[in-house]
Amino acid sequence: MATLDEVQAKVRSRDPNQTEFLQAVDEVLISLKPLFDRYPKYLSVLPAVCEPERVVQFRVPWQDDKGDIQINRGFRVQFNQAIGPYKGGLRFHPSVNLSIIKFLGFEQIFKNALTTLPMGGGKGGCDFDPKGKTDSEVLRFCQSFMTELFKHIGPDTDVPAGDIGVGGREIGFMFGQYKRITNCHQGVLTGKGWGWGGSLIRPEATGYGLVYALDFAMKDVGESLAGKTVTLSGSGNVAQFAAEKCLELGATVLTFSDSAGTIYEPKGFDSKKLKQLVAIKEARGRCKEYLAHSKTAQYFEGKRPWGVKCDVALPSATQNEIEKADADSLVKNGCKYVFEGANMPSNNDAIEVFKNNKVVYFPAKAANAGGVAVSGLEMAQNSGRVHWTREEVDNKLKGIMENIYTTCRDTAADLGHPGDFQLGANAAGFKKVADAMFDQGQ
Ligand code: GLU
Repeated sequence: MATLDEVQAKVRSRDPNQTEFLQAVDEVLISLKPLFDRYPKYLSVLPAVCEPERVVQFRVPWQDDKGDIQINRGFRVQFNQAIGPYKGGLRFHPSVNLSIIKFLGFEQIFKNALTTLPMGGGKGGCDFDPKGKTDSEVLRFCQSFMTELFKHIGPDTDVPAGDIGVGGREIGFMFGQYKRITNCHQGVLTGKGWGWGGSLIRPEATGYGLVYALDFAMKDVGESLAGKTVTLSGSGNVAQFAAEKCLELGATVLTFSDSAGTIYEPKGFDSKKLKQLVAIKEARGRCKEYLAHSKTAQYFEGKRPWGVKCDVALPSATQNEIEKADADSLVKNGCKYVFEGANMPSNNDAIEVFKNNKVVYFPAKAANAGGVAVSGLEMAQNSGRVHWTREEVDNKLKGIMENIYTTCRDTAADLGHPGDFQLGANAAGFKKVADAMFDQGQ
């Protein structure tokens, strides 16, 4: 049986240039050492867990408004189907490449396992940039993307959803094309619109779930969000709904950001100010435009929010947005909780800084699992041909986030590392998938 070092070396030698994927593999494998020390049999499944079951790459030709044909590159990585159909979002962003989709798919395996719902891990996307494109260009792109993707997905095979750059508009356009090609109206995508198969609370789920997990963690040590200051990065779906929940629980939200910079309200965004920011984002505008609506706001061009003093940081933008220097700055400024709304927002050096400084670090695959959890609930409603109320879905989401929190906490303690939520999340997710793979002969 290969040792941990040998497995890592093999993964590295296969894809030496896939930096994001290798980073995600290192993060999981190194943290799992206490699990392998206790149960050496789990080492034997590692080579399979680190290799996707299937990778699909395809050309996406589409016509822009000038009549020119544009070519993009699409991906779907079907990573692991041990506990259910492949499940995970689609990312449309110019940075998308195979390394990024593989890192996201790898993370998704364990995240989905933590939800306790029957979903395997997958991810897809395209290097298409929806920014600055007209609705009709996005429509033609989405139709072309689905014209290839439909061959590889299905309600019991692989169920994509949104991620960065893919919201309700894109899901609608892709679903329409799938339906037209296959003549089937079925739960093949999640994040669908309310009224044609979508679930209530799906748009809110990642942000709400993030704050539910934070709330459970705080209550567990006799604290609460009331009166706490929160820095948020990002300004999309996750950040907006996380902010809404933070306000509801009495916290002060100080920042949002996008790739151009950070907007800072020294006394916090109240619900009116939050609505203003959301309106700008819904019109596909930039954070900077908020300055025109506030006398008190400040804008930090090209900067992330991690220099602002806070009790809680909720990175909800993208991968590697917290590097070692950012983590040092958060610690120096008194930050006590880091709960990750984005996928892999902290790099491995930053995580070490948090853990060495007793910051409660709750990793992405546990903290942002509320989104895919409600996707799982959407699949259940589609299969059962039923619709649940807002309250029903929200209560189920809360229950799932509480269970994720206690599972991560108890798993870490059981392995002799109480408070190490990174170990708890990775070990609990990995164990469930590995056990299923053993049962099924890998
Ligand atoms: N993109 C989200 C994630 O990273 C949601 C995936 C889904 O709903 O399938 O978990």
